[in-house]
Amino acid sequence: MGQARETVGGKSKMIRADNLWKTFGRHEALHGLSFSVPEGSAYALIGANGAGKTTAIRILMNILEAERGSAAVLGVDSRRISPRELAQIGYVSENQDIPKALTVAEYLDYLRPFYPRWDKSLEASVMGELRLPRERRIGDLSHGMRMKVALACALPFRPKLLVLDEPLSGLDSLVRDEFMAGLLRQLDETTVLISSHELGEIEGVATHVGFIEEGRLLFEESMSDLAARFREVHVTLDREATPPGRAPEEWLNVRAMGNVVSFVDCRFSEDRLGAEIESLSGGVRNVDARPMSLRSIFTALAMSARDAAESKKG
Ligand code: ATP
Repeated sequence: MGQARETVGGKSKMIRADNLWKTFGRHEALHGLSFSVPEGSAYALIGANGAGKTTAIRILMNILEAERGSAAVLGVDSRRISPRELAQIGYVSENQDIPKALTVAEYLDYLRPFYPRWDKSLEASVMGELRLPRERRIGDLSHGMRMKVALACALPFRPKLLVLDEPLSGLDSLVRDEFMAGLLRQLDETTVLISSHELGEIEGVATHVGFIEEGRLLFEESMSDLAARFREVHVTLDREATPPGRAPEEWLNVRAMGNVVSFVDCRFSEDRLGAEIESLSGGVRNVDARPMSLRSIFTALAMSARDAAESKKG
């Protein structure tokens, strides 16, 4: 739509958060948070309760203002987002105000005129897929149904960007599946930012992931790169194993038990791993390098990021 979206390394960024700081009273919710969401991606912002996900998203949506740093959404400074950008952004959040006195149908009637691209046939199919009752009052619906209403209102105008703040928390598994099916059908044409504290929720949907802890980004990467470069490695020796004095830096969480040395290889290549093991150990009987689940990768990365932060401090 003719907007000067920022381009980094040849790829357009639909969202860019740069060194955001935010405090509530004495509590520092964001501590120099930076991340960026490439166009066409489904970017999962993952972090424990209280990590700062909602705060970051509210800054992006211009609901809150950061004390330092900047954010751009669809190429526009988040503090200057206008109705023109808002007409291209779908925002779904637990805390969002949906008028409780209206029925679902009345709320849809109210919203349509704000969005030039509203597609009534898409609205009908989303409503059907999410099994939403048009004639019921929103205030009478359960929490899960209200989240589905929020999603149903965010999809029919085919937003360029969908921002979903913990949309799945508190939903039962059936409603979750319905919600995700509704979301997945939209992924081809929309960039998505979805926050969650549960890894399992976003596996299979997210193309990129950013891990946030205590208001900082620990890492961000594409899911395919993550899956390709991580292996859980077990090296069986012909003697009692001891942890190597100087392990290669791409080996994380190295430990020895019996005659097995185990570690996580975070830059996996078969040739390099073979050479590294030979040069360090000798007497190798067997090498087992297994692909890792997203959950195990996260645990390994979070542990090593914490170790690195601690060794920097002290
Ligand atoms: P959750 O997964 O539980 O929703 P989150 O990652 O979204 O967590 P935030 O809601 O951004 O985390 O909160 C980050 C920190 O800032 C928390 O410690 C929270 O208590 C604090 N915080 C957020 N909003 C406020 C507020 N309005 N007043 C005071 N503290 C706040």
